[in-house]
Amino acid sequence: MSYVDEVIERVIRENPNEPEFHQAVKEVLLSLRPVIEANEAQYRRDALLERLVNPERQIKFRVPWIDDQGNAHVNTGYRVQFNSAIGPYKGGLRLHPSVNLGIIKFLGFEQIFKNSLTGLPIGGGKGGSDFDPKGKSDREIMSFCQNFMSELCKYIGADTDVPAGDIGVGAREIGYMFGEYKKIRGMFAGVLTGKGLPFGGSLARTEATGYGLLYITEEALKCRGQSLEGKTVVVSGAGNVAIYAIEKAQQLGAKVVTCSDSNGWIYDPNGIDLAALKQIKEVKRQRLTEYLKYRPDAQYHEGRGVWQIPCDIALPCATQNELGIEDARQLVANGVTAVAEGANMPSTEEAAAYFRAEGVLFLPAKAANAGGVATSALEMSQNSERLHWTFEEVDQKLKSIMIDVYHNIDDAAKKYGVEGDYVVGANIAGFEKVMAAMNAQGIV
Ligand code: NDP
Repeated sequence: MSYVDEVIERVIRENPNEPEFHQAVKEVLLSLRPVIEANEAQYRRDALLERLVNPERQIKFRVPWIDDQGNAHVNTGYRVQFNSAIGPYKGGLRLHPSVNLGIIKFLGFEQIFKNSLTGLPIGGGKGGSDFDPKGKSDREIMSFCQNFMSELCKYIGADTDVPAGDIGVGAREIGYMFGEYKKIRGMFAGVLTGKGLPFGGSLARTEATGYGLLYITEEALKCRGQSLEGKTVVVSGAGNVAIYAIEKAQQLGAKVVTCSDSNGWIYDPNGIDLAALKQIKEVKRQRLTEYLKYRPDAQYHEGRGVWQIPCDIALPCATQNELGIEDARQLVANGVTAVAEGANMPSTEEAAAYFRAEGVLFLPAKAANAGGVATSALEMSQNSERLHWTFEEVDQKLKSIMIDVYHNIDDAAKKYGVEGDYVVGANIAGFEKVMAAMNAQGIV
């Protein structure tokens, strides 16, 4: 059996009940096959792949917190410090009832290659909890965040592990966690990114993942003699990534006609009213049904369904495995020409393979949504030098990072004879640097 197949089999055997982690490992290792097989004896001798698929450390802890009625609750917290070969662990914290160790491991594993692709010195990690922030008061969110950080603070630091936001964790939650860290450790340190502007946050971090998604899409289209001008775009999600993807798509001349949350979705053929969406989601923290109060001519549908709307470009920006093979068939039948992943692993394995087989320009998450973590690394740089850069400065750096990411994955795909296959291109380009660092640092 080949080394790649052997390690995949072992991951599945040794990590039962973690289907998302299996999916992420399979996707990466299968596409690395040509690189591994060119040097199989050495990699096997050094157990390189076993070291790559086993986190350096995984921390699981109890998070007690108290609700507004005085009742105590307990959730589970996680931090997976996956790989520090090229820099301190870096990756978000997710608060969602679906969170379990396998989901955090899949996200942490993906993060290794994504962070490498940014060209910045950051390793891979991820964390979170099965706490559900929906419907909780500010006080309850604060109680949870403080208790979560009172344990997590033992394992993180500005030069060791720097968490950020993800699903369910935005500026409010980062603020509460930062306050608790500062109180317990007695130091004002750049230990979290996505902070508020008055205490070390970076301009353009809020916008970064969505904007970066559009910058890489724009560059890929440009290289094909196309642009976003006049294109119809379908977006899923209505959170941080989706909102700023919509904003940049609109600025670049596209018409975005959908968005969604976990209850339902909006179809607005005249183009999403971004000011209304921000008001509903960022200010009032309401459900998408409210959108009809601002735009009575739009449609609201329960459940999922954005992929049935005809479009030129699809941007999945909600969560993993939200776009399956039937959705992919529908999108292709309706004439989609590009799919760029804002969320992490939003396309199932079958859907991603189908897009590539059908010649759709497919930009996988680890390249397409790398703008968020790249800008987090820029926030770390600003914290280290105790300076603030302007919005334009950060945005310009973000744009040039995304353009570089595109050309790196394009070059890697060409070098390995699979031109235009950016799943392979991203995995190989991300892996090469991590592998070189791991080799140089010995078997640790
Ligand atoms: P938010 O919490 O801000 O928004 C998430 C959005 O997706 C919400 O509209 C939410 O709806 C919806 N959603 C979440 N879970 C589900 C589900 N199970 N089914 C249907 N809809 C769901 O998160 P972000 O925008 O930050 O993150 C979105 C995706 O982007 C995630 O995959 C995340 O890992 C990825 N990502 C985020 C980065 C960032 O900088 N924030 C960086 C790189 C990747 P509802 O509110 O109803 O739950």
